[in-house]
Amino acid sequence: MIVLNPKYKEIFDEKARSLISSAFSYAKKMHKTQKRASGEDYIIHPIAVANILIDLGLDAATIAAALLHDVIEDTKASDVDIIKKFGQEIFELVSGVTKLSKLTFASQEEQAAENFRRMLFAMAKDIRVILIKLADRLHNMRTIEFIKEKKQKLIARETLEIYTPLASRLGLSYIKCELEDLCFKVFHSDLYANFIQKIPLHIEKRENIVESLCFKLKQILNQLNLKGEVSGRPKHFFSIYKKMQKHGITLEQIYDLTAIRVIVPSVKDCYEVLGMIHTVWRPIPGRFKDYISIPKPNKYQSIHTSVMSSYGMPFEIQIRTFDMHKVAEYGIAAHWKYKENIEQASDLDNKISWLRDMIETGIEESPQEFYESLKIDLYSDQVFIFTPKGAVKSMSLGSTPIDFAYNVHSQIGDTCIGAKVNNKVVSLDTKLQSGDYVEIITSDTAAPKREWLKFVKTSGAKSKIKAYFKKGIKDENIKRGREALAHEAALQNYNLDDLLEKKWVDIILQYFMLSSIDDMYASIGCNEYTPKQILLKFVDLYKKKQGSEQAASSKEKKSRIGSGDGAVIVMGAENLMIKIARCCEPVPGDDIIGVVARQKASVHRKDCENVKVVETGRLAQAHWVEFRTASFGVSLHIQTSNNAGMLASITNLIARENLFIQSLNARIDKKNTGIIVIRVDLSDASQIKPLIDKITALPNVDKVYRGR
Ligand code: MN
Repeated sequence: MIVLNPKYKEIFDEKARSLISSAFSYAKKMHKTQKRASGEDYIIHPIAVANILIDLGLDAATIAAALLHDVIEDTKASDVDIIKKFGQEIFELVSGVTKLSKLTFASQEEQAAENFRRMLFAMAKDIRVILIKLADRLHNMRTIEFIKEKKQKLIARETLEIYTPLASRLGLSYIKCELEDLCFKVFHSDLYANFIQKIPLHIEKRENIVESLCFKLKQILNQLNLKGEVSGRPKHFFSIYKKMQKHGITLEQIYDLTAIRVIVPSVKDCYEVLGMIHTVWRPIPGRFKDYISIPKPNKYQSIHTSVMSSYGMPFEIQIRTFDMHKVAEYGIAAHWKYKENIEQASDLDNKISWLRDMIETGIEESPQEFYESLKIDLYSDQVFIFTPKGAVKSMSLGSTPIDFAYNVHSQIGDTCIGAKVNNKVVSLDTKLQSGDYVEIITSDTAAPKREWLKFVKTSGAKSKIKAYFKKGIKDENIKRGREALAHEAALQNYNLDDLLEKKWVDIILQYFMLSSIDDMYASIGCNEYTPKQILLKFVDLYKKKQGSEQAASSKEKKSRIGSGDGAVIVMGAENLMIKIARCCEPVPGDDIIGVVARQKASVHRKDCENVKVVETGRLAQAHWVEFRTASFGVSLHIQTSNNAGMLASITNLIARENLFIQSLNARIDKKNTGIIVIRVDLSDASQIKPLIDKITALPNVDKVYRGR
């Protein structure tokens, strides 16, 4: 049975100790009945994770969160329980780890792996979450032998592709090396067994050599009058294996199985020691690396040189300062482990810039408090989205499914008609969140919509949508469109030239999101809009002008209301303001009735539920006086049993009918019924019934009804 490393009692004050011990008892209680794959009590896992973090010297909140890291995921404990018992900070850490644990990495492409690592950073928000996750993975890898071999390989692959590079980025070389060795054991168990047996023998054989080298190095330090340390440590298996692979050699041919390290007080000392080493032994050309003047991205600093020993064997020697050594071993965690050393302000700045360099972005912001810097907002301007195949795409914050569709391929963007996020149908202007799985529904006959330009975020999507419409402005489209519009005008007894007043044209262009009058004609010519849709808007404006002229000349027309809704007369209410009722939205052609109140009258459909409760004395006859005056919106509610492809078939049908969709909303209710609400531009009520019939006839449509 593993117990919590008692070291924590020396490190922390009483308050911190009691926090840790209450997290411990709570985790123990919650995991009580659970077992690990090894058959041991589950609690050994969170304890082991906490111990790894105690060794790294992390703070009490992190240790407590490590103990609790699986309780939300695997036990009955709720978010609220954790907040109540342990407070917001610990809850955030635990729920951060839970969130990361739900993600699995699927793709093997390198780019995808890099994006996945960035996504982990973006989702973790606080770097301590990543540290807990790494410790979690380390213990799971240490105990991986208890799970099925096939799964072992999957986990080991994910570890090598995601977690060892993360550990390396954060400078946690000790975790990185151990994880690599554990993965190596999974993939090459024979070779690993061989290494275990042989490497100690080889090292023993060379022990004398290593000892004499170390002895000589200590003499050098004395000569230079430096207080330093010399040590020889076996290199980790995976690095030996990589070397064998790289040079195509056997274990026997590798001499330097031990890394010899010289640690001295200052940078100046490092170079002095280096100079002495090169006078005593012959350096091997091409093997000298100065990571002091050019640190690695994870801030690793050291001088590496390989020399030929007097025994005719090459050895690598690493030279660094004590501070560099802490960073080399513990990386980001050195902050907690050696807090006493980083109190100067300049060092604080260094830490933050280090974090920034490490994650390699160019975001400029003023350094805040250290803890703030751990709340990684380095990717606050990006979201990371999964494709259906599990690849990760990085996109600008605020991106929508349309942006995503164009990011995947312009063809997919151009033919997009709907989207699912995490398996739910959503509207196309939904803002995507990191970790969302997005699936785009396409239809070969679909085309981009101008409205998309209102909400797409990425410049890529914008320019591709615009490019699509530019292609449409061809002379023949313009000509065909102009003719069609003139023809439609003649049909409705208008002269097109009367309608094309400059300010109306401007309004129409803005409404339909067109850039010029030629663009407008072309949009008709290439069937993006019907001539009727555009003409009706002109007629609207034309009538509004006439209406206001007439209103000025004659008061009795007051009871007529906005031509956009079709003019209506309510008997006995000539002097009242007349409104079209919101509840049932009557349209020209509907049977209507007026409801008279003191200041105004409203017009309802005769079958409106609200009318039934009105006293008969307040009802008045009403009728339409003009038909076909304008288009109006009708909302249809469509219930579907199976939502796959439904949006496509419905929107295609409406497009075939030459109708214009004003808005569209889709969701799935608790009973798994798809509910699509679609608002269509119609020009009179006689169009509603046939449209409802046609939609009802589609497969998997259960019910269609007019809204409100
Ligand atoms: Mn775990």
